[in-house]
Amino acid sequence: QPRVFSGVQPTGNLHLGNYLGAIVRFVEMQKTHDCIYCVVDLHAITVWQDPAALRTQIREVTAAFLAAGIDPEAHIVFNQSQVSAHAELAWIFNCVARLGWLNRMTQFKEKAGKDRENASVGLYAYPNLMSADILAYRATHVPVGEDQKQHLELARDTAAKFNHDFADSIAALGLGVGDDGFFPQPEPLIQGPATRVMSLRDGSKKMSKSDPSDNSRINLTDDADAIAQKIRRAKTDPEPLPSELDGLKGRPEADNLVGIYAALIGKPKADVLAEFGGAQFSVFKPALADLAVDRLAPVAGKMRELLADPAHIDAVLGRGAERARAIAAPILADVKDIVGLLRSA
Ligand code: ATP
Ligand code: MG
Repeated sequence: QPRVFSGVQPTGNLHLGNYLGAIVRFVEMQKTHDCIYCVVDLHAITVWQDPAALRTQIREVTAAFLAAGIDPEAHIVFNQSQVSAHAELAWIFNCVARLGWLNRMTQFKEKAGKDRENASVGLYAYPNLMSADILAYRATHVPVGEDQKQHLELARDTAAKFNHDFADSIAALGLGVGDDGFFPQPEPLIQGPATRVMSLRDGSKKMSKSDPSDNSRINLTDDADAIAQKIRRAKTDPEPLPSELDGLKGRPEADNLVGIYAALIGKPKADVLAEFGGAQFSVFKPALADLAVDRLAPVAGKMRELLADPAHIDAVLGRGAERARAIAAPILADVKDIVGLLRSA
């Protein structure tokens, strides 16, 4: 079976974008793939995290995975820092990827903001750690939101450059697989109507955990009142909804709300417009709020139950880490041999 890897950062409140763009897809892929789902805590500390809050957030993301329906027995769920292969391979990739490649990463520019001199080195090198996350398992499929596309391209470039730079060594050791070389080319899987859920306050910005405005996002743990209120206050234009997809062009906020509705109900946006075309937002927004509450409340309820027993969550992560290590360790050992890093048997 093809292997899937994906991660979510424990950086704060999980939101509808993470849920529809990533977690719902993670759940689906369990049917057809061997899946490794990671709480990427080493990525989280590229910006300051309060230690006690970080511990809590790692458990929250894990609880969200389990509550949404990820099966930690049939697949693997763990937190990144417990498997040292990620950090080790990331260092090797720091020496493969080029400065010019990283300079083009738009997420760094956005997250570093104006005070770039004061951003951590980790925030800059983050894409190399992400390449390592995926390639430490030689994963071939990576379900992510649209915002991660550029990082995935960098992972593909890094895999290709490693294969090329070390082609002779890979051949001498007999470690090539097919035509690719040692590492496969990981493919992003960006599908569905909610690959980029936008902020409720600004249709040009993605919904994000790190947005200071809580009204910009619907959190997985928001109660029914909060969800209804945030949707009611969501920015829109004064026109009614169009009946055809074309009519959403140039209307980012309307497009976003229709996309969210479509993803929640599991139908294409055209179907939603067939039902709500001509309706005012005063009609559409309450329908959307009801649907969101209906879909999110059971997940939030299960998360609360799971979080009542942190020891259980920690045990799930520990077992997952052990199984992840068993896959990554031999791959990392091969990488060291390929590069010429001596290791005693
Ligand atoms: P941060 O602001 O800390 O980067 P985030 O909201 O971007 O947080 P991540 O943990 O970086 O969340 O991303 C986890 C997954 O969720 C990734 O696959 C990412 O592509 C996806 N994702 C994040 N935001 C959105 C969004 N607005 N719409 C769809 N998918 C998203
Ligand atoms: Mg992000």
